[in-house]
Amino acid sequence: MTETMLSIHQEILPIPGYKKVIKIEEDSSGLKAIIAIHDSTLGPALGGIRIHPYSDFDTALKDVLRLSRGMTYKSAIAGCGLGGGKSVIIANPKNGEKTEQLLEAFAQVVDSLEGEYICAEDVGCSTKDVEIISKITPYVVGLDHEKSSGDPSYFTAWGTYLGIKASWKFLTGSESLAGVRILVQGLGAVGEKLVEWLFWEQAEVLISDIDSLKIKAIQKRFGLKVIDPSLVFETECDIFSPCAMGGIINQNHIPKLKCKLVAGCANNQLLDEKDDERLLKSGILYAPDFVINAGGLLNVSIEIRQQGYDSATARDAVAKIPLRLQTIYTLAKSKQIGTEAAALILAEERIRQGIDKRVEPPVFHHQHKICKI
Ligand code: NAD
Repeated sequence: MTETMLSIHQEILPIPGYKKVIKIEEDSSGLKAIIAIHDSTLGPALGGIRIHPYSDFDTALKDVLRLSRGMTYKSAIAGCGLGGGKSVIIANPKNGEKTEQLLEAFAQVVDSLEGEYICAEDVGCSTKDVEIISKITPYVVGLDHEKSSGDPSYFTAWGTYLGIKASWKFLTGSESLAGVRILVQGLGAVGEKLVEWLFWEQAEVLISDIDSLKIKAIQKRFGLKVIDPSLVFETECDIFSPCAMGGIINQNHIPKLKCKLVAGCANNQLLDEKDDERLLKSGILYAPDFVINAGGLLNVSIEIRQQGYDSATARDAVAKIPLRLQTIYTLAKSKQIGTEAAALILAEERIRQGIDKRVEPPVFHHQHKICKI
């Protein structure tokens, strides 16, 4: 389909198992993008816009398919009445390729979907970028706006903290983290807050980051033991909490791990699906990342309620993460399978049964726009 007025070329790619995948090109702005809507059974698909200089189209496609599918499962387990979507823009966000014109052209495609896909910021796409997009389309969440939900990292960190406590309790029966040795890898927006709460919980917190300034700032406040980034995997601890990047739980690192539990906020921690089983065989409990880190998603989902955003409601939604983890651990134990496999079974069952399916249409308060379901 060619929209001559906008000179935006859109092509629907037939991908089995996906509701709609759109390849987008616009010559004057240099836009090359893909929007993937994996599933909308429980509500409109929501997911961030990743802006990255992918080496080729196929790599970008693979990434957007994987990420949008992950969003379906994350939303299904979080119970927020949303489906799974994601978009990628093939551009380098650091060398001037990410222009206002390019973002506006992308926004026109989002707008044409009339709320079937709701976008938000992601790697390479800042709050300022989504603000540009919001001038063209209302179907955006997480804006720096009085009616928007704001910085998600507090909610992600709180959900991760509660999830660590629940996982440790499942493993040991203990309600307390006092004296428990927890290694946090990555002291960014989420990791820094998590470290602080673990400190006040009287845990023995070890920290690691490649950014020495972040280490120094936290050291000054809490005087914690620092682990060299190269020694993280072999460091003895009770809980390893990945809060930096994905793919670090893999066949090379799993044999080195000297912990009882892996529980952190980083996305896509397992490099491949066999890693779930590898962790099971190693006797390490794994808190599936898309369950424990859903606090940020739950926070934006509150923004599109008819009553509007309310932080206490978002906090209370995040407080259900421990129960979700407990259910997954119990299922995994009874079936003798990995926890990620159990989480996927639970997510698929929730979708099949329409559990927590959206009944109210989302409202985009920043533009007084009600969207159809
Ligand atoms: P961030 O970019 O603010 O922080 C990441 C931190 O990790 C930085 O301090 C960086 O220096 C550090 N880091 C990078 N490589 C490292 C390495 N090899 N060893 C140690 N530290 C390293 O990111 P964030 O917002 O805190 O998110 C952290 C993770 O959680 C990411 O995987 C993100 O996708 C995921 N996540 C974040 C949110 C959120 O609300 N921000 C929500 C869900 C998932």
